[in-house]
Amino acid sequence: MASLMQDPLDVGQLAAQRTQLEREFPIDGFERVRSSLARPEGQAAAHFRFHVAGNYPALEGAVRAKAWLVCQRCLQEFEATVESPVRVAFVGRDAEAGRVPDEYDAVTAPGGRLELLEFVEDELLLALPLVPMHPTPQDCTGRRTMPVVEPLRMVSNSGVTKPFAGLGDLLKR
Ligand SMILES: [Zn+2]
Repeated sequence: MASLMQDPLDVGQLAAQRTQLEREFPIDGFERVRSSLARPEGQAAAHFRFHVAGNYPALEGAVRAKAWLVCQRCLQEFEATVESPVRVAFVGRDAEAGRVPDEYDAVTAPGGRLELLEFVEDELLLALPLVPMHPTPQDCTGRRTMPVVEPLRMVSNSGVTKPFAGLGDLLKR
């Protein structure tokens, strides 16, 4: 069973056995994704369910990752969650691509073999935003105006503060 899960995958056999595949990858390991990252941190996870679609081995699932990107509005780094739903059917030759069921994207897997790492990287590249940005402009502003020196001055010399000191008087009224 272990060899069945090694690259390149035998998609025909995985589909026939309706195998579920869950795997995590260090995002730094993807050469083509790396150039888009602000930091080489984070994991990508693939979750695939193999099955047969029409006459073709297929899989359905998603590729997810947490990636550090540079916001193009404020140029700050931020951690983005990217996710790409995946539904593909594997054909032996490009010429067969038109024959897979409509709701599937055709992917060529010569000899029924699939390089999982390469496939996950392709999906990840599709999932990465073309123009990465914080979800809202407020998120950008929030980071910019974050006080750096202020907290030092706020340290009190007068010892313990008593947030409820006046509460007793208040209740008596
Ligand atoms: Zn921003």
